[in-house]
Amino acid sequence: MMKTLTIAGFDPSGGAGIQADLKVFQYLHVYGLSVATALTAQNTRGVQHVFLIRPDIIRTQLNVILSDLKPESTKMGMLYNESTVKVVASIIRKYSLSNIVLDPVLLSSTGKRLVQRNTPVAIRKKLVPLCTVLTPNIHEASVLSGIPIKTDADIEKAAVRLKDYGAENILITGGHLEKSALDIFYDGTFHHLRSKKIKGDFHGTGCTLSSAIAAFLALGKSPLEAAKLSKKFMNTILRKPFDLGSTVQLLNI
Ligand code: PLP
Repeated sequence: MMKTLTIAGFDPSGGAGIQADLKVFQYLHVYGLSVATALTAQNTRGVQHVFLIRPDIIRTQLNVILSDLKPESTKMGMLYNESTVKVVASIIRKYSLSNIVLDPVLLSSTGKRLVQRNTPVAIRKKLVPLCTVLTPNIHEASVLSGIPIKTDADIEKAAVRLKDYGAENILITGGHLEKSALDIFYDGTFHHLRSKKIKGDFHGTGCTLSSAIAAFLALGKSPLEAAKLSKKFMNTILRKPFDLGSTVQLLNI
């Protein structure tokens, strides 16, 4: 069985972070390994608190798991600060990990800051160059590239910049633009992945999409195929969310 490692935050509501990632891995029939980078206190109304896990603890978790098991792909989500980013980057190099997917988490959808202010710069310098697929939404793409994004053309400009910073492939999800459900995949050529916009306030979409991409890479798909299959997967699950009568809807995986 193929293995995928998630290095991400812990979400007690089960909708995002490690919990979402493991559910996706199970659904797509890859075995999930997981290392926690931060603990959050959150519910469907939003993230209330973020607690850092010390970088040396993250390093130890990674060393112990990777000295025994080698994942076919690895995905990263919430990385709280520069030290965490440095630890993760050094581990990727130390174990020559391949098929690296980075969801550069910055804010929750309710606007809570999930990382320190200088984390995006560390991510751009240390981790973007190691990425097989970088999966920012438009806000994250804008912060990492320094390009304000208002239109689909701006998304393309940001993708080119992020490729210049070293990511092999970039998938920018346009779902947060008013009408768009256009995702732009860039590998030196633009591929427009279009779908009908599905209305709703969903929790954990970025985590879910990026872990699906990691799972498909582990299963031997190319980055572009993995992006297309993951978009199809998202379209299926966004049509049947849990509505628990709370603020955001949880994905029913
Ligand atoms: N909690 C954790 C641990 C996350 O990794 C993320 C996003 O990646 C969130 C919360 C926020 O999820 P959402 O964007 O659905 O608010």
